[in-house]
Amino acid sequence: MTTEIYLDGNATTAVLPAAIGAAIDAMGQRFGNPSSTHATGLKARAILDQARACAVRLLGVGNGRLMFNSGATEGIQTAVLSALVALRERQARGEVVGNLLVYGATEHKAVPESLAHWNRLLGLNLTLHKLPVDASGAHDLALLRQVAGSAALICTMAANNETGVVSDLDGIEAVIKETATAAYWMVDCVQALGKLTLDLSATRIDYAPFSGHKLYAPKGVGMLYVRAGAPFTPLIMGGGQESGQRSGTENMAGIAALGVVLAALERGDTFRGHDDLWRFRARLADSLRAALPGVVFNNPFDKSLPTTLNFSVPGLSSGELMDVFDAAQVRVSAGSACSSAKAAPSYVLDAMGVPLWRSAGAIRMSFGPLTDEETIAAACARIERCGAALRASCLVASESAAVPHDGLLQLGVEGACSWLVLDAASGSCVVIDPLPAMTSRIASYVRCQNYRVLAVVGTLPEAGRQSLVDALGDHYVAGAVDEFGWPVAAPVVVALEAGATAHAIKLGEQVLASVGTGAGNASRAYLLGAADGDRLPAACVRFAFSAGTQDQVVRAVSGPRTLLCPTRDDHNEFCSSMTIHPAAMLTAATQLSAQADMQLDSAELEAFLNAHPDAVLVDVREAYEFAATGVPGPAGRVAHSVPLSRLAGQASEWLRAEQRPLVFFCRSGNRSMKATRCLRRLGHDQAYSLSGGLALAA
Ligand code: PLP
Repeated sequence: MTTEIYLDGNATTAVLPAAIGAAIDAMGQRFGNPSSTHATGLKARAILDQARACAVRLLGVGNGRLMFNSGATEGIQTAVLSALVALRERQARGEVVGNLLVYGATEHKAVPESLAHWNRLLGLNLTLHKLPVDASGAHDLALLRQVAGSAALICTMAANNETGVVSDLDGIEAVIKETATAAYWMVDCVQALGKLTLDLSATRIDYAPFSGHKLYAPKGVGMLYVRAGAPFTPLIMGGGQESGQRSGTENMAGIAALGVVLAALERGDTFRGHDDLWRFRARLADSLRAALPGVVFNNPFDKSLPTTLNFSVPGLSSGELMDVFDAAQVRVSAGSACSSAKAAPSYVLDAMGVPLWRSAGAIRMSFGPLTDEETIAAACARIERCGAALRASCLVASESAAVPHDGLLQLGVEGACSWLVLDAASGSCVVIDPLPAMTSRIASYVRCQNYRVLAVVGTLPEAGRQSLVDALGDHYVAGAVDEFGWPVAAPVVVALEAGATAHAIKLGEQVLASVGTGAGNASRAYLLGAADGDRLPAACVRFAFSAGTQDQVVRAVSGPRTLLCPTRDDHNEFCSSMTIHPAAMLTAATQLSAQADMQLDSAELEAFLNAHPDAVLVDVREAYEFAATGVPGPAGRVAHSVPLSRLAGQASEWLRAEQRPLVFFCRSGNRSMKATRCLRRLGHDQAYSLSGGLALAA
């Protein structure tokens, strides 16, 4: 079994084994309530006091406050509330206070959201002011100087979570001391803990929130530092715990664990120093450069935490990169919120002025200071495997031509579909309804496999095909074409059903025929099948590509087994057939979705496969995910790779052959359920989906 390599340390970390031990002890042997005055309580109190004393020394808290809480989001609330309540009181006393709540453009969302929330709730009506950063992610100090005089509160993180960019806190402090003497200053120190030296009371920082789970402590425990003399208002009132600063019985398991991590940091014998971490990052970066040609790093290495890489790869979305890394069991995160079809750009990279393709396609790779050499070496090997998988799928540039793929490929963007008919033996292909968004993807796919493109056709006339034709260059060999992109000199004429004839292109053993559809033949449909001599009767038509699958002409020339391949697929149906009416299809799909008998969970899988030795286990993830996985399928069985983009082509085979049980799987069970629904709708009643996917099967 391939083990997981966790490179998402900026999101969270595993818990240090000694910290787990301390948490268990705090829940077992020393379970007392630290507010109790009996011995059991005193034992718990000792844990609390030790952890706090350690934090106070380590962070240089001096005479300031250091309270435990649930994490940084709470710490940010408390800091913002404290500052804004103080500002309101100062206003009430007639004091003139600044009118700006200044925050760095790359702050974690918890900061601007909290500022807006408490500003509104307290009725302060101050103005939120986003402070720009430069191309390296550093705060624009000249602009800060301009606005600092009007600032009531300034929020600037110590290090960024997406890029690791380290802020120039000394520079910011100098500006504040010069021009914003009355403003409060919060520094989100979440990503700095354990990676940057902090001596808080020696600075002008008023508030510094921390979160335990970013440095090997559990989730749900954190700390807030408040400078001596800085205003403070508790967020939570009650039994007066934490000296009345944060009521509620303490999370002793969390605090005990955090205490162990802080003690390890203070001793300096557990976590790696910057030199090792720099070296690790350089090795990962070298592997990425070798595996993913053209990779661009979005964070300046000399100005960011040595534990963070943020990169983008030309032509690849963050969803695709996430998928391939996840398949190789390397856990990274998208630098931006994304869905597989459309990635939302990262606001952090946008603020740095990074081009849209990089900001929307960014990946963050981050590791904690416990990481060892072996993990980095293994990660580099997996990165190489991901690169090879992407090269074989023609998704990144490769020096050698890839083995040509055969069959039907469906490429979709937001419900619209392009279809590629590929014939590996003759090295020829036809593109149907190319989507403008897919131009470079299709062109590099064709180039990488050295296909001759016999035609780029549309089901509608003049539907924006020229950009692909241009991008294909010499690979496009259609000659003169009509307004649908169909070669005017298409050499073959085939006889269709009911005496009709059509021009056709030969693709190896198959022919692709063009028929006029719609009123006045305003649209076209394309029929693909193996001709019987010069005839392509309905029984031989395997696929019909058409904008309107209910078109009378299409129905007349297609057989009951013909798969109808739509140019729109808003409901992920991939294809349909003559025997299913689209109106009935959705109802059937909805009904089927309710049927638990379409799903197998990982506990049932083994027994199912034993009971059905002829069952076929099908991985419907993309081919590069299959290739990057490097281990057999679930239950240790060999799996076939049939990505959803190739489902229509393969479905036709499965429906023709004697039906065998099909068990689809993917990463999470989402894509496999789509495949299962498709096959059931087409009449295959032994299609199943592995619920929870590979993520739960391991
Ligand atoms: N600030 C930064 C920079 C962070 O990275 C995070 C967590 O991602 C937070 C604040 C919020 O921390 P938590 O969710 O632990 O409260």
